[in-house]
Amino acid sequence: MAHESNTLNPIITGEDDFVVMEGAALLVPGISPGSSIRGIIDTLREAGADIVPILMARAVPNGVISGSFYAKKKNDFIHRLAEAKAAGPIDGVCLALHGSMKVEGLGCAEGDLLGAIRKIVPDIPITSALDMHATITDELFAGVNGFAGYKTAPHVDCEETGALAAEMLLESLRTGKKLYTAWRKIPMLIAGEKSESEAEPMKSLLESCRSAEKQPGLRAASLLLGFPWADDEHNGVSILVTSLGDGPPERSLADSTALELAAGFWKRRKDFNFRGEYYDSAQSIETAFLAVQSDWRSGEHQRPVFVSDSGDNPTAGAAGDATELLEEILKRMDTVDKLPTPLLYSGFYDAPAAAACIKAGIGAEVETRLGGKWDTVNGKKIPLRLTVKKIVRNYGPYKSDLVLAAHKNILFTITSKHIGFGDEMLLPSLGIRAEDYCLVAVKLGYLEPCFRNIAARAIMALSKGCSNEALETIPYKKVRRPLYPLDKDMEWNG
Ligand SMILES: [Zn+2]
Repeated sequence: MAHESNTLNPIITGEDDFVVMEGAALLVPGISPGSSIRGIIDTLREAGADIVPILMARAVPNGVISGSFYAKKKNDFIHRLAEAKAAGPIDGVCLALHGSMKVEGLGCAEGDLLGAIRKIVPDIPITSALDMHATITDELFAGVNGFAGYKTAPHVDCEETGALAAEMLLESLRTGKKLYTAWRKIPMLIAGEKSESEAEPMKSLLESCRSAEKQPGLRAASLLLGFPWADDEHNGVSILVTSLGDGPPERSLADSTALELAAGFWKRRKDFNFRGEYYDSAQSIETAFLAVQSDWRSGEHQRPVFVSDSGDNPTAGAAGDATELLEEILKRMDTVDKLPTPLLYSGFYDAPAAAACIKAGIGAEVETRLGGKWDTVNGKKIPLRLTVKKIVRNYGPYKSDLVLAAHKNILFTITSKHIGFGDEMLLPSLGIRAEDYCLVAVKLGYLEPCFRNIAARAIMALSKGCSNEALETIPYKKVRRPLYPLDKDMEWNG
């Protein structure tokens, strides 16, 4: 059960937003490619384990999860686990969690799930794969014996991480040695876009984790950044180090390694910065216009200029309908209309606007209001006359409708579901390619590889929305203080 829940976003993530698979459906070859679930199942299968598949429920990051939906799925999960136990002994449990899942009325939910799992299987080893943006709570920590976190952002090692979680479980069962995990929590928040794994300081810090886990006796060293767009008392960075064996030497090695990694992290706290160009929304658009004018030559090998609408990034759980950047673009329509290609804006999560376009049909003109349906703080309902260019129904695993629609020289993608815009197949599904456009605005933070590889320039707009990168400006009420960088001069001794 995995979700990254953004508590600043008012959307309640419900049944329609989740992909759920239960029981034998999880063992169908090829399901959920590139995920930690995939790595877990493949590793257990190769080892000849007798797998009892329980349940998978995943959704795109979004607002907190509906209390009733979570209760229902937790019930299904626990019921299936109890059934499995009744059918024969269970040796171990391997989980794929995110580690920042929050539920209406409950807050952090992984600990609640683990508590229920432990009631059924109190004494067997449990390992879990985690997202790099996991928030660790006492209850989550207490329920799991061994943890493996992603070591890449953007996350491209999810399968390997699942495989590591499964290997640790198998090794513990084969050797009879217990897993032990040491935990150090660092009082710090980090904006996601300051922590790409290919940039410093993350590159070196993750390298330290990789070297640490090669020490005899240690199996995994994970650097978990927490999730800054949740106002929660548990927020912060964690180091988790898991050893195979829980005797005094293994404990001591895991404890000292966790402390060393945490101290190394704290030492570099001031080195976390945005990697590339970044400006406010207005300056981002002005800069992009200048870049297009100087670099884009029709007929030659062309590369688009990208502007990330980073404050409203649905893959970081923002609503996807904030309009600050769009308003800055609309103020400059004289320039937009002279661009050599339409400005492609991918895109908006706006179910009513998508429905209106679909109802009108391809070629029709629709008077609509785009944006501001959910994020009413940073979004306004912007009146636009859209010409419908293309419609795709039930796209992808979340079955979203997609619409391509033009307003003057701007081309919008609009989704009926909150699926985000980092997916490399979304634009091709609408029959277009980002590389054919001189300027692409996208509701993302750092660019996914599919965009980064073709970008002439990647400009990050520090726009306003539920994934606002300027953490110092977020009115947190619940996070524990002192917390860096909110408390800039604070000290911490590990
Ligand atoms: Zn993440």
